[in-house]
Amino acid sequence: MSDFCCGVSEMVLDLKSIFLNEDIVLRDTYVFDMTDTVIDGIKPFGSAVTVEIRAENRAGIVRLFLAAVFDLTKPCDRCGTEVTRKFQYHFEHYLVVSLSGDQNDDYIETPDYTLDIDELLRSDILLELPSKYLCREDCKGLCPICGADRNEGQCNCAVKPVDSRLEALRQLIN
Ligand SMILES: [Zn+2]
Ligand SMILES: [Zn+2]
Repeated sequence: MSDFCCGVSEMVLDLKSIFLNEDIVLRDTYVFDMTDTVIDGIKPFGSAVTVEIRAENRAGIVRLFLAAVFDLTKPCDRCGTEVTRKFQYHFEHYLVVSLSGDQNDDYIETPDYTLDIDELLRSDILLELPSKYLCREDCKGLCPICGADRNEGQCNCAVKPVDSRLEALRQLIN
């Protein structure tokens, strides 16, 4: 296997030599700017996404591997503290020049041997992001009564205020 360089021009991957030669592997790194992307009203991508690309031909189908590393800066969904967390995702796609009958949505058709990596990566990353963004997995969140950050210690609020109110009601009824 020989390495093939420089198949990437900004955002469009030229895969012609990979499709035509089974013994060529394309490797490249790539910097992808997602800093303008808005999620929940803010722009959490503080810096660019670093992407490692590898593409290889397996019996006419080009397997594309994308490894993306980036930081997100967002307020924690539980306690509201803004934190920066590092993310590392791996994506794999199967590319064909033209789809045949038994190939479904898992395959990407590249009739002119080129692929817009930006568009693909953007949707890959956005689909993979966690639905809950936490400062740490065991974040205790805020006290619903006094608003204290429970990560910084216990407040003096009653543990089950709803139950005690129900108990008072019950006593009134009786
Ligand atoms: Zn938190
Ligand atoms: Zn409290």
